[in-house]
Amino acid sequence: ASPQRPCKMGIFLLLLIIISCFTRISANPSAQSFYDEKVLRNDSDSIKKASNDYGNIVHEIPSAVLFPSSVKEISCLVRSSNERSPPFTVAARGRGHSVRGQAMARGGVVVDMTALNKTRSRIRVSGKESSGFYADVGAEQLWIDVLRATLKRGLAPVSWTNYLYLSVGGTLSNAGISGQTFQRGPQINNVLELDVITGKGEFITCSRERKAKLFFAVLGGLGQFGIITRARIILEKAPTRVKWVRLIYSNFSIFTTDQEHLISSNSPDYVLGFLIIDENTTNQWRSSFSSPSRQSDIDALLKKQGILYSIELVKYYDNRTTSTIDKDFETLLKELNYNPEFIFRTDTSLFDFLHRIGDLDSPTGPLDSHPWLNLFIPKSRISDFNAGVLATLLPKLNESSTILFYPFNRKKWDDRMSAVIPEEDVFYTLGLLHSSSPNAYQIYDEFNSQVLGFCKRAGIKVKQYLPNYKSQGDWIQHFGPKWPTFRQRKATFDPKFILSPGQGIFNSA
Ligand code: FAD
Repeated sequence: ASPQRPCKMGIFLLLLIIISCFTRISANPSAQSFYDEKVLRNDSDSIKKASNDYGNIVHEIPSAVLFPSSVKEISCLVRSSNERSPPFTVAARGRGHSVRGQAMARGGVVVDMTALNKTRSRIRVSGKESSGFYADVGAEQLWIDVLRATLKRGLAPVSWTNYLYLSVGGTLSNAGISGQTFQRGPQINNVLELDVITGKGEFITCSRERKAKLFFAVLGGLGQFGIITRARIILEKAPTRVKWVRLIYSNFSIFTTDQEHLISSNSPDYVLGFLIIDENTTNQWRSSFSSPSRQSDIDALLKKQGILYSIELVKYYDNRTTSTIDKDFETLLKELNYNPEFIFRTDTSLFDFLHRIGDLDSPTGPLDSHPWLNLFIPKSRISDFNAGVLATLLPKLNESSTILFYPFNRKKWDDRMSAVIPEEDVFYTLGLLHSSSPNAYQIYDEFNSQVLGFCKRAGIKVKQYLPNYKSQGDWIQHFGPKWPTFRQRKATFDPKFILSPGQGIFNSA
């Protein structure tokens, strides 16, 4: 966790190298202005921000931060690295909401993608009813801004993250998951086209039909093959209203049976699950509606049971379906076996539902540490996982954490993309969203190791989401049969190992 400082001379040399590259191409006026405008900075504020992330655990110090005013400046930077021996590393940073330094570049250059947003709006909505709607979106854009811009046209993307203050490029480098994923696939499945600057500095437009190898590599590719600068996102007519229900369960098996039933049908538009392990988590931060009058009853049940489970269920509706939505929702609820004493309902706009968490970020950076662990767990081993982790390890944690637990359908994922998921038709995601003071995160790291250790011993083939590994051997195991392809893609698109060194997959440049 201790910061590793590159020596001052190293920083000076790197800046000199980059500047000389831009001076050499100063026949191109925009490249000259690149340096003149101090687009490349190494002041303490810029360096400090680029050497931290939401996790507030890993701190890697770059030599400089690029604040690009154009896409061209990014490709110029990557090309200048390619021309050096040895090259310097380059990491795109979207919102910096990784938790283990994935968007950092020790001794290299961090590209603050949000700077692209300063010049003009980079969200453009196009298309028509017959052929479909889409938005061309700068990869630095936050999903909240995509939502706002598309709703103005009565349209919206179909697949979301729970939290909207994340960059498009950052979530597409992982997968982008939430309660819509079971039905619509992750965000990476809802992209038509990308502009990418590869690790060689080439600017390439790719899609399923054109330069498909790069397209599939980059989606879920952990920033290893290119820097996304634009994504074409699928849009649909936005529903105007949302019926939203929260159900409580005290039996794990009934809870999972109901979740699996819900994701097997097309009836709900959103299905999310939580574990409730103490009173602080009964009103989860991911929901904006609660039930104060029943809180003490839920707390009493929690005390008795030790753990409770909750499903959040949503159906969208609009003018055309206003008259049938209540009946349809009741039909759906009748198929479930929740605790009938505890059902909480609300009715809200699409915007308020998608924006339910609001903006959690402190303008000065995270104050707490976030030693999160996110896993994908095959359905066939879910009761073993419950017995070994949720029922046994979790009660010993003695700390409060937000815990998400809900299932996906594998068929909604595209296996040609780089994201890694379990090899079963249905798998669950578990999000252990711990929060601690910066000097106490090791308690959670220890807990996370116990969870992973149990899975290994029990032969439960979990996959990490937002993965973090210390050795290449662990990465090879993570990718499994996809590793040869992943390695080959790296050799093709970033042969000098320049991009996203903070993931720690390949030797850094
Ligand atoms: P960064 O942390 O900036 O970057 C992540 C990685 O992507 C780095 O390796 C970086 O180099 C690379 N990268 C960034 N931009 C680009 C680009 N343009 N081109 C290529 N590579 C790039 N995830 C979900 O799926 N669903 C959720 O509901 C969800 N909720 C979250 C809530 C919170 C509060 C937080 C902190 C995280 C959440 N996440 C969620 C995880 C989140 O999707 C990832 O951490 C994602 O990487 C965040 O995007 P970012 O812009 O902050 O990425």
